[in-house]
Amino acid sequence: MIVMKFGGTSVQDAEAIDRVAAITRERLPENPVVVVSALAKMTDQLLAMATAAGAGNREQALELSLGARERHFNTASDLLGTGRFAQIHAELEEEFNALDELLRGVVAVGELTPRTTDNIAGFGERVSSRIVTAAFSCRGLNASLVDSRQCIVTDANFTRAVPQFEETNSRLSETVKPLLAHGRVPIMGGFIGSTRDGVSTTLGRGGSDFTAAIVGAGLDAERIEIWTDVDGMLTTDPNLCRNARRIKTISFEEAAELAYFGAKVLHPATLLPAIQKNIPVLVLNSRNPKNEGTRITATAPKSKSIFKAIAAKKRITVVDIVATRMLMAHGFLKSIFEVFANHRCAVDMVSTSEVSVSVTVDSSESIAAIAADLGKLADVKYEGRKAIVCLVGENIRSTPGIAAKVFSAISDVNIHMISQGASEINISFVIDEADVPKVVSRLHDCFFAEVDPEVFA
Ligand code: ADP
Ligand code: ASP
Ligand code: MG
Repeated sequence: MIVMKFGGTSVQDAEAIDRVAAITRERLPENPVVVVSALAKMTDQLLAMATAAGAGNREQALELSLGARERHFNTASDLLGTGRFAQIHAELEEEFNALDELLRGVVAVGELTPRTTDNIAGFGERVSSRIVTAAFSCRGLNASLVDSRQCIVTDANFTRAVPQFEETNSRLSETVKPLLAHGRVPIMGGFIGSTRDGVSTTLGRGGSDFTAAIVGAGLDAERIEIWTDVDGMLTTDPNLCRNARRIKTISFEEAAELAYFGAKVLHPATLLPAIQKNIPVLVLNSRNPKNEGTRITATAPKSKSIFKAIAAKKRITVVDIVATRMLMAHGFLKSIFEVFANHRCAVDMVSTSEVSVSVTVDSSESIAAIAADLGKLADVKYEGRKAIVCLVGENIRSTPGIAAKVFSAISDVNIHMISQGASEINISFVIDEADVPKVVSRLHDCFFAEVDPEVFA
C-alpha cells in the first residue's frame, strides 16, 4: 500500500478536489490510503474564530464560521451536484452546528483553553475529509471515511500533541487494513488525533504531513507521497527566490534538516517515522502531477554541488544570557536549559563563550516568563525579529573552506550567531529577519547558479 497526502491548496476548491480524485485513481492498483488537509487557509480561519470567541467577539466568530460553512457547502455542491449533495448536507450541518456551539461556549466562559483551541482547529480536516470521501464515491472510487481521531492516539499536549505510536499502530491495523483488504480507499483527515480518553488534539501547524508519515509507518507503506502546490523540494523557498530549482533526490537527513529549519513544504516531524521504517517519501505537485517531484530516501546519490538547499526560519528570538556571579561554573548550562525545559520551550541553536550563552527559540509567547526565570541565574536580554538561515548538504562534511565562501558572499550582513558541525551537514547562522530575502537570494546565486544536473532539475 501507499499513502497519498494532499495539502490545503490541493483540496482548496471543487476543481482541486476533482484533480485529487483523478490522481488517486491512477494509483488504485497500489492500494492508496488518502490523507487530506483542511481546505486552504481554513485552519487559519478556524483559529481566528477561536481567538474572536475567546475575546468575547461573538458576532465576529459566528460570522467567520458562517463564511466557512458556505464555502464548504458550495464546494460540496459543485463536486456532487444537487442530488448527492443532499446526503452530505446533513453531516456538514451537524459539524458546523457543533462548531458554532463550541464558539458560543467559549464566549460564555470567556476563556479559550488550548484544549478547546485544538477542538476548533480540527474542524477543517473533519469536514474536508467528509467532502473528499463523498466526491470520490461520486466519481466511482470506493472511498471510506476513517475518523483520524479514532486512529491517531496522542498525548494531551494540546496544539502540538505527540503521537503514541504503539496504540496508534494497532488502531490503524484494526481500522484501515480491513478496508484496504476489501479494495476500499480509506480517507483520513490529517493534523487531528485524540487522547486515549477521546479528547480531540492536533499535531501542530502543518501536521498533515506528519499524519501521512505516521499512517505510512504504521501500515508499512511502500511509499509516502506528499502532494502540494510546488514541483517538489526546491533549492530554496520559491517565495524568496524565483529561480529556485527542483531537487530530484535528497537524503532523509538533509530533508529533515531543511524541514526543521523552515522549509515549510514538509512538517519537521514528517521524516522520523519514515526513517524508522526506511520508507521513501515523495514530494509531488497536484497541479502538475506528471512532474517526477523530489524523492527522499535513506541515501541520495552523490552530488558534485556542495549544498542541496537553503532554508530560512523566521520569527526567531535570540536570548543572550551572561553569567554574572560564577563564570560559567559547572551546572550553569544545566540550570539554564532547565528553565527552557520547564517552560516547554525548544531551543534551536546554542553558542557559548567564557561567560555567556546565546540561544535561539522560535516561540516568543513565553519568552518574558522565561527571561524572568533566567534572570534569577544571570543577566538576560532577548531580541525578536531574527531569522535562522541554514545551508544543507552532505558534501559539507568533506569540503574545506566552505564557511569562508558563505560568509564572504554576505560580508556586509550583520551575523548574530553561527553554528556548524552539530550535524556535519548544515551550516546555520542568525540574521535580522529583514535581511532574509537579500541573504537567501545572494547565497542562492552564489551556490546554485551552476549545479549538478544529476541532482537538480
Ligand atoms: P501544503 O498546504 O500542501 O501542505 P505548504 O504551504 O505547507 O503546502 O508547503 C508548500 C509551500 O512550502 C510551497 O508553496 C512553498 O511556498 C513553501 N516552501 C518553503 N520552502 C520550500 C522549499 N525548499 N521547497 C519547496 N517549497 C518550499
Ligand atoms: N490544516 C493544518 C494547518 O493548516 C494542517 C496541514 O495543513 O498540514 O496547519
Ligand atoms: Mg503543509
